[in-house]
Amino acid sequence: MKPAPFDYVAPRTVAEAVDHLGRHGAEARVLAGGQSLVRLMNTRLATPAVIVDINRVEGLDAIAVENGSVRIGALARQRAAELSDDVRAEAPLFAEAGGHVAHPSVRRRGTVVGSIAFADPSAELPAALLALDGQVVARSTRGERVVDADSFFTGPFTTSLAPDELALALRIPKTANGRTGSAFVEESRRHGELPMCGVGTVVTLDEDGDVAAARIALCGVHRRPIRAREAEAALAGTRPNDKVLREVAALAAAATDPIGDTHASAAFRRHLATVLTRRALDTAVSRAVAREEEKDA
Ligand SMILES: Cc1cc2nc3c(=O)[nH]c(=O)nc-3n(C[C@H](O)[C@H](O)[C@H](O)COP(=O)(O)OP(=O)(O)OC[C@H]3O[C@@H](n4cnc5c(N)ncnc54)[C@H](O)[C@@H]3O)c2cc1C
Repeated sequence: MKPAPFDYVAPRTVAEAVDHLGRHGAEARVLAGGQSLVRLMNTRLATPAVIVDINRVEGLDAIAVENGSVRIGALARQRAAELSDDVRAEAPLFAEAGGHVAHPSVRRRGTVVGSIAFADPSAELPAALLALDGQVVARSTRGERVVDADSFFTGPFTTSLAPDELALALRIPKTANGRTGSAFVEESRRHGELPMCGVGTVVTLDEDGDVAAARIALCGVHRRPIRAREAEAALAGTRPNDKVLREVAALAAAATDPIGDTHASAAFRRHLATVLTRRALDTAVSRAVAREEEKDA
């Protein structure tokens, strides 16, 4: 099939881009890497009247560390973020999650922000953004606002971005140095496919080796990426041994509400949530210990 007819504009500046979005509102769609949008248009699941192609807007591909956060611009490709020294050093969970997305050929074109704006409940990067307490910077003709990841994702393929807003960049707070470790693990039917379940975790240990703070986010097991806050609270203050991690993983799985499909039943997805949360926490704790030992060496 071919896409329905549409008008095409290719602004050169952010101001021009948001002006087009302001004029056309819900009739318009931003085109970034096109890896998801073009497929939807070709099957006519999306029939925008106007395409606002932001690929010619200069400076939007920047990745930089600013004011304690890694800022990833709207045109930064997924592959660039995954390989960025800044992302690997300051938000290693995000780089690790990025390595699980599709295949390198898709990641070389697909943008990080496009994946966040698309909000596929199975996608890795939205879950990583949630686990890292990241934020989305949104711009429209009305001005700029910053939305926490947890308020950004509202449902399957749905966000709190207004139709006239451009997602300009992400802000990801630097992961603390010292006793902090993170891990992203997933299970998919075939390498490069969306996961049946993915889990991102960040664990900080105190001087005695107990958990000072933990964050757990899951994808593929709910109508949107979710934080397992009850599980996080249960882990805080504990010595992270096998029994504790199993109990916490069970709590994380209890927070999910998976839907069964041709890839996996709901029960299997929930089972994966338990197994993968325990595995991710185990790895994050080991990395936190290793980082601490590296620092002391
Ligand atoms: C073969 C294949 C395998 C894939 N496997 C995976 C996978 O395993 N995991 C995974 O997470 N993804 C996967 N994807 C999706 C891929 O990661 C997409 O690149 C990503 O979801 C969308 O990024 P994009 O830049 O291509 O966005 P586009 O396709 O250009 O846009 C996607 C949506 O986001 C909106 N949008 C994009 N940028 C902005 C912005 N700055 N502001 C406002 N709205 C915006 C668009 O209007 C559109 O609605 C796969 C894609 C393909 C083709």
